[in-house]
Amino acid sequence: MIGDFMQASEALSWQRNIWGEIARQVDNNRMPHAILLEGSAGLGKLYFARLLAKYLLCRNRIGLLPCGGCKGCDLMRVGNHPDLSIVEPEKVGKSIGIGDVRKLSDRLNKTAQQGGWKIALINPADSLTLQASNALLKTLEEPTGDTTILLTSQFVWRLPNTVRSRCHRILFTTPSSNISIKWIEQFTKNPSLAREVLEIADGRPFLAKYFLDTKMYRQRVEFEKWIGRVSRFEGSPLDAARFCQRNDHVQLVEWFLTYLAKRVKQDLANKCVPPVFIFYDKLFQARNWFLSKANPNPQLIWEEIFFDFRTLCQKMDSQLDWSTNATKLS
Ligand SMILES: [Zn+2]
Repeated sequence: MIGDFMQASEALSWQRNIWGEIARQVDNNRMPHAILLEGSAGLGKLYFARLLAKYLLCRNRIGLLPCGGCKGCDLMRVGNHPDLSIVEPEKVGKSIGIGDVRKLSDRLNKTAQQGGWKIALINPADSLTLQASNALLKTLEEPTGDTTILLTSQFVWRLPNTVRSRCHRILFTTPSSNISIKWIEQFTKNPSLAREVLEIADGRPFLAKYFLDTKMYRQRVEFEKWIGRVSRFEGSPLDAARFCQRNDHVQLVEWFLTYLAKRVKQDLANKCVPPVFIFYDKLFQARNWFLSKANPNPQLIWEEIFFDFRTLCQKMDSQLDWSTNATKLS
């Protein structure tokens, strides 16, 4: 999703403060042995982790940044630094098992090949199985010399508390729209498109760039049109489910959750309305099905979601006019 941006060479505009803090900690020999980088997808957590790894492995740091020209920086650029171990699931949605963590621990117990830091990047840490998390705990409890473990997570509650509590935690939040727009405008000459993609990415710059690059913002507009149609009884749940077949299911569920969260905030002033929260749970459950290896039947799941959503809209109409709000969206 991030492509060339993985060649992290300087702090992103919305991360400058936290970057300054951590880079100073490195310079003052106060680098924590484990850092948990937490926050929603699309805020640049992985970019930050890469930049930090590069900074730690650079031999000639200049002004809180890696020099870009030393052997450490060169090895990072070609993606082949022997002292950086990256642990990721084989595929998105798959888990990181105990075997991967054991291999990692073995590597971290050896001496650094380049004589500096040994770094592990676990991305995302919430895909560790419980057994893998427990195995990692040993390494977190007994850190060796110049070793640090960087963990990224957008679903931090999935990590056992024992792991979380042993990490220095950095929380990434959505930047101000001025900062994000300025950043995304580098990639499009169309300022109104920059605003539009940023809005549908809920203000998350990297996600907005991804939508821009893949033209996925068009799919989101289409998807919200289908939600509108179903809520107004103008479109059938079956047709809406058919539309979903051609798209990324997990992404669509996330859009639905965001859509619902916005409605709850705007129209219900964050009041607790049980039918809405039951539907919320349904979407979370669907998200887990799509993420699981169980190979669910997407058409059936989407039909159920849209039928339930239509029932919800029926119930809600007595309290507020959701269909009017939905009209505005289409
Ligand atoms: Zn360097």
